[in-house]
Amino acid sequence: MRPFTYVRPDSAQAAIEAFAAAGPGARYIAGGTSLYDLMKLDIERPEHLIDVTAIRGLDGIETDGDRLRFEALAPMSAVAINRVVLRDYPVLAESLAKAASQQLRNMATVGGNLLQRTRCLYFRNGAGGVSAGMTYPCNKREPGSGCAAIGGLDRGQAVLGQSRSCTAVSPGDWPVALVALDAYVEILGRQGTRSLPVADLYRLPGGTPHLEFALTPGEIITAIVVPKAAAGRQSTYHKIRDRESYAFALASAAVALDMAGDTVRQARIALGGVATRPWRAVAAEAQLAGKQLTRETAIIAGRAALTGAKAGDHNGFKIELAARTVADALMIAAQRKPA
Ligand SMILES: Cc1cc2nc3c(=O)[nH]c(=O)nc-3n(C[C@H](O)[C@H](O)[C@H](O)COP(=O)(O)OP(=O)(O)OC[C@H]3O[C@@H](n4cnc5c(N)ncnc54)[C@H](O)[C@@H]3O)c2cc1C
Repeated sequence: MRPFTYVRPDSAQAAIEAFAAAGPGARYIAGGTSLYDLMKLDIERPEHLIDVTAIRGLDGIETDGDRLRFEALAPMSAVAINRVVLRDYPVLAESLAKAASQQLRNMATVGGNLLQRTRCLYFRNGAGGVSAGMTYPCNKREPGSGCAAIGGLDRGQAVLGQSRSCTAVSPGDWPVALVALDAYVEILGRQGTRSLPVADLYRLPGGTPHLEFALTPGEIITAIVVPKAAAGRQSTYHKIRDRESYAFALASAAVALDMAGDTVRQARIALGGVATRPWRAVAAEAQLAGKQLTRETAIIAGRAALTGAKAGDHNGFKIELAARTVADALMIAAQRKPA
């Protein structure tokens, strides 16, 4: 690890001022389960850490009224076992409960989870950077250095949203569920507050894969808001991985249904593990609207969810896997009792 300064302000405003005073090289830190990891790998090299965990009143969970509101410092584990979330939005609870391990979920925050960086093997490989003899080039880690995954061993890489510069998968589970439910984040910066759909927080890699999030330096995510909707109780987060716990998704689907009997009034579907950002499957949603949900229509919708998917040499299996994951998720969600 490289040396860094450390401060722990007790208000969001003080954190923003500390960030501005520190200048380039400043980073916020919350649970630290992602950032410290990347610092030890010498991929992240912050010179100034601004620990946000002492900020008062930023870890609440509100479930009354017409929305759910999770403040950014709420631990993943606390949201995952919240009674209302478990009952009315199992897709949210499951996306958290199926992520990482219990110990990590106790430390990790729902805000920090949104901003974790990719688990792409080539991004994380080694220390020191290409210029210092790093084995694998990575445009996300070192812009312009190339991408070893393209044309290389790409089993874990994205089949949706990739570019000629980057095929790294967006790793989080929670953002996938949030995107399916049209959630947005509340953001505080020096210019004041703003809100942004979670879907728009994530940039496609294009030619600038190192620019991953639509935040300006110094902005803090203060809360995540989920508008309440008819689709909620009949929902699930279905995650397929190499082992059944403590692993990132090979393919996952967040599904929430609003049904009239067997007929789908509205389906909300998002994919994880297969795309460079949490991926809303609008073609699959359109495919299902007004239709009876059967195994057959679920499989057709699953295929529609992968519209435009393009595989490399070793990740073609993800296209079929993700389609079936969507289909299975639809059938699981439909079996749940509506409100
Ligand atoms: C072994 C292992 C397995 C894992 N498995 C999974 C998994 O299966 N699924 C999954 O989804 N995740 C998984 N994770 C990732 C884990 O969920 C994240 O590390 C965690 O959610 C990050 O939250 P944090 O509070 O610790 O963030 P930190 O590490 O503190 O911060 C992460 C990033 O967010 C920024 N940040 C944090 N809070 C804010 C804020 N409020 N405003 C602005 N910026 C902020 C930081 O500057 C940093 O860049 C795993 C992690 C590990 C180590």
